[in-house]
Amino acid sequence: MPDDAVNKAVLSQGRAAVYEEPAGPSGVRIRVRPRTKPAPGSVAIAIRAASINHLDLWLAHGAQRIPPPRVIAADGAGVVLDSGDPAWKAGDEVVIFPTLCDWECEWCRAGENVRCPRFGVLGEHSDGTACELIHIDARNVFRKPNGLSWEEAAAFPLTFLTAWRMLTTRAQLRADETVLVVGAGAGVAVAAIQIARHIGARVLVTSRSEAKQKRALELGADAAFDSAGFSKAVREATRDGVEVVFEHVGPATLEESMRSLAMGGRIVTCGSTSGVKAEVSMPRLFFRQAGLLGSTMGNASEFEALLTAVDRGLRPVVDSVYPLEDVQAALTRLDAAEQFGKVVLSVAS
Ligand SMILES: [Zn+2]
Repeated sequence: MPDDAVNKAVLSQGRAAVYEEPAGPSGVRIRVRPRTKPAPGSVAIAIRAASINHLDLWLAHGAQRIPPPRVIAADGAGVVLDSGDPAWKAGDEVVIFPTLCDWECEWCRAGENVRCPRFGVLGEHSDGTACELIHIDARNVFRKPNGLSWEEAAAFPLTFLTAWRMLTTRAQLRADETVLVVGAGAGVAVAAIQIARHIGARVLVTSRSEAKQKRALELGADAAFDSAGFSKAVREATRDGVEVVFEHVGPATLEESMRSLAMGGRIVTCGSTSGVKAEVSMPRLFFRQAGLLGSTMGNASEFEALLTAVDRGLRPVVDSVYPLEDVQAALTRLDAAEQFGKVVLSVAS
């Protein structure tokens, strides 16, 4: 977790959605923070849109044990207002790389920001993007891909970066392989479906919701199954199971995910929304030569590669857009797991 120096490099200003008490969505309120000039090395960005993630809900419920107040959200896109770094000038349209790090340690210098001892997530370990104006380290600022709306530009960073690293760097998914994406409605899972299609792999999905199964098929998934006992359907739809399982659910699905793996397959996971401890069948792991891979966020180089993929047509799915003032309603939609894709906050300029 980052120390104060890394936290203080991020300043959220103007109207902002602030986590004030662990009361769920109602504990996040709009407050006004003073505006200042950016420090050298920082860029002041007028946020046009931000998007929320499950992380924000956990924060709002007090599950992260992070003391309030904290401005929420990791994802943001906007226009440079003022820059303390010559790389950026007023008027530039940008997106924010949501990984926090010190940029100086041995790992950061080797391009491994996710292994930085001061690693953190924007809007969790620092103030975040759900505000009118943010000051952030120039190294967290990247050009906005052409052709994306502000809402789309704010929708992709955290989920797509996470799913990108999971499927490319970690699981090394190839075009001739099949991936199973469990829990297909979540933002990161929707990103995984799209990235896997972009890679050219065959994509199977699971969801409890028929509506979400249908949306996944419309997005290019090759087959969709109900969540209950899904390994049977997966094994019937494949010769010997899938090469990769994309996990983020944890204990509720891990056993079925293991049963869905082909010989030599790998499970890659970035989350555990159904609880922190899961049982693993050890013989299944070793007899099937399986891999169990963890992954969190992504590096700046992976974000750069993702931006290139977005330039080539990868597009995030925006579930819904709420004005910043309606942040409680936006969080409530996420809390009810009604969404397919990203819930976005639009910020009036
Ligand atoms: Zn570092």
